[in-house]
Amino acid sequence: MYPDRVVSGMRPTGALHLGHYHGALKNWVKLQSELPCLFFVADWHALTTHYDDPSIIETSTWEMVIDWLAAGVDPSQSTLFIQSRVPEHAELHLLLSMATPLGWLERVPTYKDQQEKLADRDLATYGFLGYPLLQAADVLIYRASQVPVGEDQIPHIEMMREISRRFNHLYGKEKGFEEKAREAVKKLGSKRSKLYQELRTKFQEQGDDEALAQAKAMLDDAQNLSMIDRERLFGYLEGSRKLILTEPQALLTEASRLPGLDGAKMSKSYGNAIALREDKDTVIKKVRTMPTDPQRVRRTDAGDPGKCPVWQFHLVYSDDATRQWVDKGCRSAGIGCLECKQPVIDAILREQQPMLERAQQYIDDPSLVRAIIADGCDNARKLAQDTMRDVREAMGLGY
Ligand code: SF4
Repeated sequence: MYPDRVVSGMRPTGALHLGHYHGALKNWVKLQSELPCLFFVADWHALTTHYDDPSIIETSTWEMVIDWLAAGVDPSQSTLFIQSRVPEHAELHLLLSMATPLGWLERVPTYKDQQEKLADRDLATYGFLGYPLLQAADVLIYRASQVPVGEDQIPHIEMMREISRRFNHLYGKEKGFEEKAREAVKKLGSKRSKLYQELRTKFQEQGDDEALAQAKAMLDDAQNLSMIDRERLFGYLEGSRKLILTEPQALLTEASRLPGLDGAKMSKSYGNAIALREDKDTVIKKVRTMPTDPQRVRRTDAGDPGKCPVWQFHLVYSDDATRQWVDKGCRSAGIGCLECKQPVIDAILREQQPMLERAQQYIDDPSLVRAIIADGCDNARKLAQDTMRDVREAMGLGY
């Protein structure tokens, strides 16, 4: 019913590293040529955990946008913007909060998990509890169809879908809806309206999801429908309400995971990260001093790549031939660890070279970055305002 659209954000809480690149950014670059994408700096989300020291947010915001551009995110293909510059996100968050049961937020698995992990910060705050709801507003406000996420974020998407469903159920009522929907069915033409009715019955009586998908695809193709009739027909398929907000799907990212230099999760705060735009000498030094298989004390000791963090880097960066060379050489003590690390160093430097080149123009002229963001904020705001018009009207605030 609404066009396919991808929305994703990142919190500006420090410089991006290669873990971010392989875990998310590379996927953004791929997605932008497939679907319309909106990528945003989630500065309000950064405040949920950094409210007592927000000084890091401003610098990180601009540095992060340069990192995105350096990685190949292309402003002529996707919309880049800053969350707080589109205040409609906050308005939708507030309106959604009126009808969101507290239990839904308390049950989000990352809530307790993060509180425990970040035990040094006081996260018993309203903002922190509400952040999955703000996330829902970030996505629903663009009627996004897809959200790229890792496994751990799936419960958040599930909750977004429930929030959207609940909203449509509560506020999608319309006087004379059934009659208007039946009139709209007729406008499909006799053949299509018959098929629509059959598929609707199949879904409503037998829960046939395929019939639902087929009916939706048919509505997508129907040219002669007004926006409002289309909304009614989508809503009528599933019940007796208009669909004001959509239900986004999780787009599971098949990203290669790049661990930190010590094999743990790559994170700046663990001191095991290589920055996306790290200088050459530091990259070389960091990889050369990476820990290896602890059993391999001397050059003559055989090692096991499975117990070595360098191997994880080979899995991301090396081809089959190099991996075979590592495996054989390590197990037979045929190669030394520094020798083994060299192809990784070369690959990282090769990967970073175009990023450093792309970043340079933005470092030299920060007004370019400001202009990209200003344009992106304008575009995002227009879309957000369209949704908010419908949301306010549905909630009786259209005066
Ligand atoms: S040879 Fe390579 S894989 Fe084996 S222990 Fe050394 S660095 Fe690790």
